[in-house]
Amino acid sequence: MAPKYHPTPLSGGQRKALRKELPAARAMTGILAAQSDEMRSKGDALIRRADRLLCESWNEMMWADGEPIDPSLTIEQAANGGYPWLQIECFRCKTPSDVDLAALRQEPTTFVHDLAGRLRCRKCAQAGRRPAATLLQRPRQAVPET
Ligand SMILES: [Zn+2]
Repeated sequence: MAPKYHPTPLSGGQRKALRKELPAARAMTGILAAQSDEMRSKGDALIRRADRLLCESWNEMMWADGEPIDPSLTIEQAANGGYPWLQIECFRCKTPSDVDLAALRQEPTTFVHDLAGRLRCRKCAQAGRRPAATLLQRPRQAVPET
């Protein structure tokens, strides 16, 4: 794309003003873009902190009372907050298992409590049964040792 053409003003004062304003406007482009990047990264960091607090809040509630699991955070918020794992327990055989939220084929906006009815126990699935899982505490931070 050709650079924008600024017609030369007839008046000498306006020509002088144009010579002064053009470099200033071009310099401002970079300054404003840099400020925008800085604000955006600060905003991202704040959102990450907010998501982490939301995860911790939900974990505390699940640990203390175990309910209500609804409302909960979304898969996206859990991952962004640094809690990419969810521990579940089978309703039937009580086998605990850990679910990698990033590996799920659910929409990132899916609420964690909505996963309860969608996740199935591997052990019971082999026996021909598919009871729903029960959400235990929260997306966890550490990778489980198995
Ligand atoms: Zn089971």
